[in-house]
Amino acid sequence: MGLITSLSTENRQRLEEVATTQRNQLSYKAFERLPASVLAQYFQATISTAETVPNAELEQVKSLCNSDNWSAVIIRKNPLWIVHNSRHAPTRQESNLMHELAHIILKHKMVGYDPKTNLPQRRQQDEDEAVYLGGCLQIPRRGLLWAVQKKMTIAQIALHFNASEEMVKFRTNVSGISLV
Ligand SMILES: [Zn+2]
Repeated sequence: MGLITSLSTENRQRLEEVATTQRNQLSYKAFERLPASVLAQYFQATISTAETVPNAELEQVKSLCNSDNWSAVIIRKNPLWIVHNSRHAPTRQESNLMHELAHIILKHKMVGYDPKTNLPQRRQQDEDEAVYLGGCLQIPRRGLLWAVQKKMTIAQIALHFNASEEMVKFRTNVSGISLV
């Protein structure tokens, strides 16, 4: 996960605020872990893994089952249906789902399909925004400050928010927060 250099400071601040608003709507405080399943429920989304997709005729899902090279994908928007890769680590699955839900929150449009993978494609700017918002939803800046005040380690913060350590490092990095 590289630093999202393509996003302006204003845009990052906006995304942080979007996450705060979304968490407020769900009555989750900044220091509380927000499970992706709660957010998914808010959007009345059906969450499946590639293996449990009931309608096996979906060609694109079938081809995904045997691959590690994908995270999650929105199969249908209304009602919302997200299929995600159960082969990834649980913390990664969590951020994969947050990422897709971030696309929904930001009302990003799909711009077509990749002919090679048969996966929906999006604009790079939208991808960067979804990565960033997904991270804010998992570990808000204020939640991070709370953890720093408690002198929590990267591993403890990761555990607390059900995030990967990579995500904690990314969030501290982009939030300009230094850990002890
Ligand atoms: Zn995406």
